[in-house]
Amino acid sequence: MLLVKNGRVIDPATKTDTELDILLNGDVIAEVSGPGKISRDSRGAETFDATGLIVAPGFIDLHAHLREPGQESSETIETGTKAAARGGFTAVCCMPNTKPVHDNASVTRFILDKAKSAATRVWPIGAASIGSQGEAIAEIAAMKEAGIVAVSDDGKPIATAKLARQVMDYCLSLGIPVIEHSEDVSLAAGAVMREGVTSTKLGLRGMPAAAEAVCVARDVQLAELTGARLHIAHLSAKASLEQVRWAKSRGLRVTCEVTPHHLTLIDEDVTYDSRFKMNPPLAAREDREALLEGLADGTVDAIATDHAPHERALKDVEFDRAPFGVLGFETALALALEQLVHAGRTSLMRMVELLTSGPARVLGMERKIAAGEPADLTIFSTERSWTYNVQDSPSKSRNSPFDGRNFKGGPAATIVAGKIVYKH
Ligand SMILES: [Zn+2]
Ligand SMILES: [Zn+2]
Repeated sequence: MLLVKNGRVIDPATKTDTELDILLNGDVIAEVSGPGKISRDSRGAETFDATGLIVAPGFIDLHAHLREPGQESSETIETGTKAAARGGFTAVCCMPNTKPVHDNASVTRFILDKAKSAATRVWPIGAASIGSQGEAIAEIAAMKEAGIVAVSDDGKPIATAKLARQVMDYCLSLGIPVIEHSEDVSLAAGAVMREGVTSTKLGLRGMPAAAEAVCVARDVQLAELTGARLHIAHLSAKASLEQVRWAKSRGLRVTCEVTPHHLTLIDEDVTYDSRFKMNPPLAAREDREALLEGLADGTVDAIATDHAPHERALKDVEFDRAPFGVLGFETALALALEQLVHAGRTSLMRMVELLTSGPARVLGMERKIAAGEPADLTIFSTERSWTYNVQDSPSKSRNSPFDGRNFKGGPAATIVAGKIVYKH
């Protein structure tokens, strides 16, 4: 048993914001009561004193790349989930662009087997098409049976509208969302950053915001046609957000996520340093402003990291040749606090929602602090000053644009299935 006491519990699912004690018994929450009021016999329970800290439902990351199987020199399920736990995440959804691509149930089983000894829960996302090649639909039903929570061809969009429609029809019947990496590949071909004044100045090929928005528009139309659940990954452009807002106003089951790097940085921050290269690329100032508005007004459903580790040998090359992607787990909460809460743009409650019940709803789940619920908690400080030093990361990769950044607030402890998997 584990008793978490004296913390300020913030739970968006139940609109709770008050001091409570929480008794965990094995992998479930046994009791939630006022301070010192736990009625169950908790003698012998391990105690975590959360005085001065926030206690939230366990954070869920809808979008990460754990690189296993096949790219273990960049990350493994073990190292990636250790980094996730340090970032306060209790569950991580891993994208299928592994080697081989996760497009069949044997890979699902391989991932879930590795996940048994991982620091956090791992919820795999299967490929939408075979090999994510965009030609034929993958074995989605078999993967669902084996444990996937969604499908995506992340790294690229589902290649054609026809196939995307077929995938949506299929996933509707299976009750899982389709997660789309929205990109018109003809508009984005050869681009390494966002098109604009900065790309011209740097002499780097840029992709317009429309490269994303055109694909979002296509998929929103298909969501209307099929009635399926569509989730837009790493939404970065104002024009895309407007599509999502329109879809929601029509009652379509369309959701979206925004990454910590897109809500913090813009194209003007890009230099020839490949740690600033990701896809979608850092957007324009007005896009970031729109994202911050969407995060505040409820249009955005979740903050998701798109944690994309690449080993040094791959990433430490010229900007043009480097692969897309940045680390995300360990700086996500601190950036959300900085950009949303400390900046006065959202309440703490809303920020917690974007990391807990928001992503849970995208997956058709519930996440709350109540008796009988899974014993997953994220405990964090809103005040602690610290500096992110990427060298200390349990991740196998070092490609973070936030190395050396000073933060106010960060994870204090991560509890998964009743066990403390990370403690500051
Ligand atoms: Zn993507
Ligand atoms: Zn991704």
